[in-house]
Amino acid sequence: MGKRLIVIGGVAAGMSAAAKAKRVSRDMEVVVYEKSAYISYAACGMPYLVAGDIPDYRDLLARTPEQMAKQGVEVHVRHEVIAIDPETHTVTVRDLEKGREFAHRYDKLVIATGAGAVRPVVPGLDLEGVFLLRSMEDGLALQRFISEHAPQRAVILGGGYVGVEMAETFRRLGLDVNMVIRSGEVMREALDEDVRMLVADELARQGVKVVRGEPIAFEGEGRIEAIVTEGERYPCDVALLGVGVRSEVPLAQAAGVALGKSGAIATDAHMRTNLPDVYAAGDCAEAFHRVIGEPAYIPLGSTANKQGRVAGENAAGGEETFDGVVGTMVVRVFDLAVARTGLTEAQAREMGCTVRAPLIRAMNRAHYFPGATPIYVKLVVDDVTGRLLGGQIVGQDGVAKRIDVLATALHHQLAVTDLQRLDLSYAPPFAPVWDPILVAANVAGK
Ligand code: FAD
Repeated sequence: MGKRLIVIGGVAAGMSAAAKAKRVSRDMEVVVYEKSAYISYAACGMPYLVAGDIPDYRDLLARTPEQMAKQGVEVHVRHEVIAIDPETHTVTVRDLEKGREFAHRYDKLVIATGAGAVRPVVPGLDLEGVFLLRSMEDGLALQRFISEHAPQRAVILGGGYVGVEMAETFRRLGLDVNMVIRSGEVMREALDEDVRMLVADELARQGVKVVRGEPIAFEGEGRIEAIVTEGERYPCDVALLGVGVRSEVPLAQAAGVALGKSGAIATDAHMRTNLPDVYAAGDCAEAFHRVIGEPAYIPLGSTANKQGRVAGENAAGGEETFDGVVGTMVVRVFDLAVARTGLTEAQAREMGCTVRAPLIRAMNRAHYFPGATPIYVKLVVDDVTGRLLGGQIVGQDGVAKRIDVLATALHHQLAVTDLQRLDLSYAPPFAPVWDPILVAANVAGK
């Protein structure tokens, strides 16, 4: 056996790193420690698992420890790494089943400890029926609770993308849904106000009540009965906490791994940390933001997979780089797809840019073609340089493919005039002859 790579964390980033390292260097010993009982699962699919779209949780598992073993990767679930000693190149591992601890030496280490859901400090948080949705265990526990207790009323705390996905899930399961959000607005960070309004309208149309408020107590006799805010009480049988995530870094920090401004692990483009032979990837780490020009914290599965792959390749002796993100995401909100990339108008202005940011309405297909529906495109363009800084798109159909055009344009720092000249596909069932992206670029380019 050659050198030993130890990977801490066995989901998107960790398993990508492990699998890639083994492919690059067959004689490298690759060992993964994962503290939960599951590896390599698609957390992104959990709202649809709970909704019943995905019949079996095992469909969300990309790989099992047994499959990884066949590829030569040793995976230990229910094993938590509790310390890293960079001097001796050793990790201390606790076997959570047997309760014993042992040390394991590494030549290379990938930290892929991910992120944890933020838990508000409010009395009553431990009541039955209060859930986070972060790990596979969380998803399964929520699914079990719903089938055993048939809740009728849900309160979702927070208005991020997991919150809106779960609003849809709960409504489809027949529950009344209140979303209690500190700002009173869904997806406040991700979208500008004019685009948020479209999302708010859809939530209202689907019977989701969005209210401003912060919880001061969770009430109930053993099981959740209500969430109390300043001046309001929201009765509920199930509560979901979706107030954000925080990079899981205490282990790394204790070992002397440097953090960036965001509080997540700082890496270079090779996913190397400041410690020799130690890499980091995924939701525990920052990513270089190509539009802002500095590191940012945008924890997403798409990035975690790519960063993990780069970390694994380099740990196995490669020279790969991760070229950064532009902040692209898409989420389904009932009948709408909602997507964004780059900077919002608000973010761009906060950064001191002078921008124009028109929002246009067009049709996703030729207007005469059956099933044509409206699509809204907002472009954020630097008024001085004409450079595209960001985009947001909302509509029933054709959103994801168009946000990816904008993401590609941002990746290559295109100007709005470049966008105007793109040769985008056209046929009546898919797009109008002037694609909404081109219409938006023409308006923003004036
Ligand atoms: P994680 O998935 O957090 O995995 C880290 C693992 O490390 C955990 O299993 C943890 O148990 C383990 N670990 C931590 N500390 C230790 C330790 N000391 N010892 C051993 N093991 C440890 N992203 C998208 O791009 N698109 C989506 O549509 C999307 N939807 C989502 C929906 C939901 C409901 C959720 C929860 C997330 C969604 N995401 C989505 C985000 C995506 O799931 C994450 O970005 C991705 O899982 C990050 O992978 P990771 O490997 O970096 O971290």
